[in-house]
Amino acid sequence: MSSELETFYCSADIEDALSPTNGHSNQELAVLPQNRWPHGHKLTVSFVDPGADINKIRRAIDYIKLWDPHINLRLEFVRGHADIRISFLGDVAYSKIGRAAEGVPADQPTMFLGSKTALNDAQFGAMVMHEFGHALGAVHEHQSPESPIKWDKPVVYKHYAGLGFDNKWVDQQIFNKYTKPMANSTAFDPNSIMLYAFPPHFTLDKKGIVPNTVLSRNDITFMRQLYPQTIRYTMPLLGKSEKWIPTNINLYAGQQVRISASGTITFGPWGSWPFTPAGENKTAGGGSPAPGLYKNSLVAMAGGQPVYIGNGGIITAASDTQLYVASNDDFWVDNDGKWDLVIDVIYK
Ligand SMILES: [Zn+2]
Repeated sequence: MSSELETFYCSADIEDALSPTNGHSNQELAVLPQNRWPHGHKLTVSFVDPGADINKIRRAIDYIKLWDPHINLRLEFVRGHADIRISFLGDVAYSKIGRAAEGVPADQPTMFLGSKTALNDAQFGAMVMHEFGHALGAVHEHQSPESPIKWDKPVVYKHYAGLGFDNKWVDQQIFNKYTKPMANSTAFDPNSIMLYAFPPHFTLDKKGIVPNTVLSRNDITFMRQLYPQTIRYTMPLLGKSEKWIPTNINLYAGQQVRISASGTITFGPWGSWPFTPAGENKTAGGGSPAPGLYKNSLVAMAGGQPVYIGNGGIITAASDTQLYVASNDDFWVDNDGKWDLVIDVIYK
């Protein structure tokens, strides 16, 4: 019934990737992968089947952890409710794409690691890494806009019909291509863990796709771009009554962030007085947006006292919080200019 090249069937909810979660901004990335978890998010993972095989759980955790060095999330394996809830039941692999998991009722899994056939360890690992790639926001590589695969569609439809998958499923999971902003990378990656394996007779040129069982260089590069350690952040202009700006960068108690900045802010209306992030006017007081700090400087705060950043500084989060920054706006006029911040997050 099934070629040994086909290891598992994945029914990721591709529709999820078409609709970004409300209030979720990816503006600092040139590529706009949808549904990314917030920087520094504590991503909890649980296994929900009562009496699940503990060895299977351990193996799954080992494979999930292969993503860990490449993301700025904190993976935590927990009992009970979690962001990612994994079941081994069923005969299809499945995952929500990134934060779309938040839309799943709490008593239901967000990921299934099931297969129709018995999998060897490498195949099981490939399935786990593939599905967890979806959970982190990655989509299918064979549906890349750059995919060169020349499908023999009638053959593929017939094959999957024999396995109980209708043509709509085949269109959604195999044939349909993503628009560019959704794709994992700019070039097609034949080694991606996010690629299915396909036998040669599925394609008109008889070129199949061999199974990939390890994370490819592009998989890692993509995930590092999606969850970077260094974040570039352009601070918007502040109105004269605005103060702290949340950066959407989550931090945990004790975590450190190094911040550097470029750009200027020009004060008016008394002529042009450009100020750099070094904060020349350290002696000014009065209307500083950050109590106790100097006006005309760049400050950041993460659960404790505001810290003057100058041309580069490190702050340590006092509690679980997110990073806030404030510029040296005063309360007299709206200032000109912007700070281009480079935020280097030391997550691990
Ligand atoms: Zn998939």
